[in-house]
Amino acid sequence: MPALIDPFGRTFPYLRLSLTEACNFSCSYCLPNGYQADGRPRFLEPDEIRRLLRGFAAVGMHKLRLTGGEPSLRKDLPEIIAIAAATPGIRKIALTTNGTRLPHNLPVWRDAGLTALNLSIDSLDRENFLRITGHDRLPEILTGIDQALGMGFEAIKLNAVLLSDLNHDELPAWLEFLRQRPISLRWIELMRTGDNADYFARHHLRAEHIEAPLRAAGWRQLDRAPDAGPAREWSHPDYRGRIGIIAPYSKDFCAGCNRLRVTARGDLRLCLFGEFGSPLRPLLQDDAQCDALIARIQTQLGLKAAGHGLHQGNTGITPHLASIGG
Ligand code: SAM
Repeated sequence: MPALIDPFGRTFPYLRLSLTEACNFSCSYCLPNGYQADGRPRFLEPDEIRRLLRGFAAVGMHKLRLTGGEPSLRKDLPEIIAIAAATPGIRKIALTTNGTRLPHNLPVWRDAGLTALNLSIDSLDRENFLRITGHDRLPEILTGIDQALGMGFEAIKLNAVLLSDLNHDELPAWLEFLRQRPISLRWIELMRTGDNADYFARHHLRAEHIEAPLRAAGWRQLDRAPDAGPAREWSHPDYRGRIGIIAPYSKDFCAGCNRLRVTARGDLRLCLFGEFGSPLRPLLQDDAQCDALIARIQTQLGLKAAGHGLHQGNTGITPHLASIGG
């Protein structure tokens, strides 16, 4: 079966699958009033996920990220990880989580087949963390990170959204944290979504705010690997950790796009900020639908745009990233 390729020659070995829209945090830039459940249909079931993954893997997907909402809220997460691990072709299974359920669950997830962990941690300062996320959970998340470090994951990455007036001055604390820890910290520029226009105007800060002091402190930007994600990676010989910068407003950010997304209700999204989704769920009801599923993914890919419209203020149909999975 030929691998997925779009009209701009980009290939898609990477799928980000949202498992739920529910979240137990109320991050000020994402779900400031917390998750509000609605009465619409339930999220994809394990059997539907198994068929979805089999279809994507048949056309070249080998890296999977499970995200949300908060994916660890799903009680069947170990079963879903095991389904992914048993799908021929999938080599890397990563989880993006806010880390509130790490200490108890990490061994279970790892034994089910999880290979990589991304933890969102917007501040190392307890007060700031509470201010940004709405929850005073920093100490246990830090404990979970150190626990994860001893468990042999292929990669551990931390995500911090760069926010003017809230965490923009925390680089020195992070450098101290990374001195002895072999972790990659990703600073993500705040993205404008349908719901956060005013917040964006108040708190968006360009990534150069982090890169200039990094350069001054002797950090060096690494050459981009051909299959690298969107992060600009920095390293320093005195530090075991690295820093990655994700700057969605930078030139050519979309040129290397290698990922597709599926929402928790089974809609294919070609772009985080796209104008439409295509329902795959009707094609996940029977094993015999695999060819039809692949045909729909291939047809949809022909519609993938060259880049997002964020510079024009066009955030597509995404009200907040919890609805699609960041
Ligand atoms: N609940 C999980 C977590 O906290 O990592 C997974 C879902 S969350 C939507 C995924 C990532 O998106 C988090 O790192 C979060 O900080 C980031 N995120 C959410 N809204 C964002 C925005 N408007 N701009 C940049 N990053 C955002």
